[in-house]
Amino acid sequence: MSLREKSATELVQEARERYVARGISTPPLVVDRAEGARIWDVDGREYVDFAGGLGCANLGHNLPAVVDALHAQVDRYLHQCFMVGMYEPYVEVCRRLAELSPCKGAEQKSVLLNSGAEAIENAVKIARVATGRPAVIVFDNAFHGRTLLSMTMTSKVVPYKAGFGPFAPEVYRTPAPYPFRGVSEDDAVDALRYLFKGEVDPHSVACAVLEPVQGEGGFIPMTPDFPKRLQELLDSYGILYVNDEVQSGCGRTGPVWAIEHYGVEPDLLVSGKSLGGGLPLAGVTGRSELMDAVHPGGLGGTFGGNPVACAAASVVLDTVSAPEFRARSERLGETLRTRLDAIARDVDGITDVRGLGPMLAIEVEDGARAGATLAAARSRGLLLLTCGLYGNVIRLLPPLTLSDEDAAAGMDILEAALRETAP
Ligand code: PLP
Repeated sequence: MSLREKSATELVQEARERYVARGISTPPLVVDRAEGARIWDVDGREYVDFAGGLGCANLGHNLPAVVDALHAQVDRYLHQCFMVGMYEPYVEVCRRLAELSPCKGAEQKSVLLNSGAEAIENAVKIARVATGRPAVIVFDNAFHGRTLLSMTMTSKVVPYKAGFGPFAPEVYRTPAPYPFRGVSEDDAVDALRYLFKGEVDPHSVACAVLEPVQGEGGFIPMTPDFPKRLQELLDSYGILYVNDEVQSGCGRTGPVWAIEHYGVEPDLLVSGKSLGGGLPLAGVTGRSELMDAVHPGGLGGTFGGNPVACAAASVVLDTVSAPEFRARSERLGETLRTRLDAIARDVDGITDVRGLGPMLAIEVEDGARAGATLAAARSRGLLLLTCGLYGNVIRLLPPLTLSDEDAAAGMDILEAALRETAP
């Protein structure tokens, strides 16, 4: 037996194994503190963070303006429940979401929830009541959450669905464009038409739910005209277009919402992740005619729109909607893309580089290589995540506030890790 003292990381890992369910997967990282694009672990190791708490740190960790807003709110009250006593921070977030909404219609309203999955569930509830129809269309490679309905809408069996059935009824899946894997925009439009012929009466469909850049599914941006063509088809049957921007929103692709790249006005917007600046917050936004279709009391929840999370969200929305923030993000996207393209030319086994603005990823030959690259990067001080049906996509989710030095440091490590794992 080794007499070596256990590290702080090992001690927490041991306790984690003893007390925390194994169903939640965890890397060998125990965080001590975080600031901007940097994380320090409990043994003093420093990391550049290209994982961003799974897409929740578009503004980096502990942005001073967010922290100040939180402190001010913490000193007033922590929780009320909007159904017990209204409070301004909730209304202020809804006002900003209305002003920034990419959705159809002049007058926009929102409901606030705790998580992306809960917001997706609520978007479907609203669409069902507004249309009086039951069915929901979703796409290959979609990820919409882990609750019963949102898990049903998600398209990856292991780990998200295996053993968790029976699933929710009236969910129909169809391909989304994925040119790298041979699904063209025309194929996807044809497949949806076929679905309406062979599988589900379009007049019984309440909504179609689509991520403009599929996140967990592999950072797959929709082809330039697909959202428009989808919208035309949906409109012809009175089906609502629900735009899931839980991962692609809040500035991740440059504009506040990724759908702005596509010149389409969806019916409902689902937001989450970075919206709360590190606190749990999600929303559904749309024209009042849809949002007010639901009877009073039909929407809500104990913690949805918590005042502390709302205080952060107002700062987040003000920040990501500033033109200079967008310009900076777009520059970051160009820098990272140029570097990724150069690495892909130079290092074997990188099969695709893709993304929209600074929402970027590379596809490698298989999941084993992607996993090994993540481990190699972590040991050199860079945190990354994989995604994709085959787990072979390495995605970049750095803070959009990333300094040039941190961007270069992160990309240097990524390149070294890819070289180390090259076939
Ligand atoms: N929708 C998309 C596009 C997501 O990426 C996610 C989470 O990754 C969700 C919904 C679910 O969000 P949450 O994990 O907050 O429930």
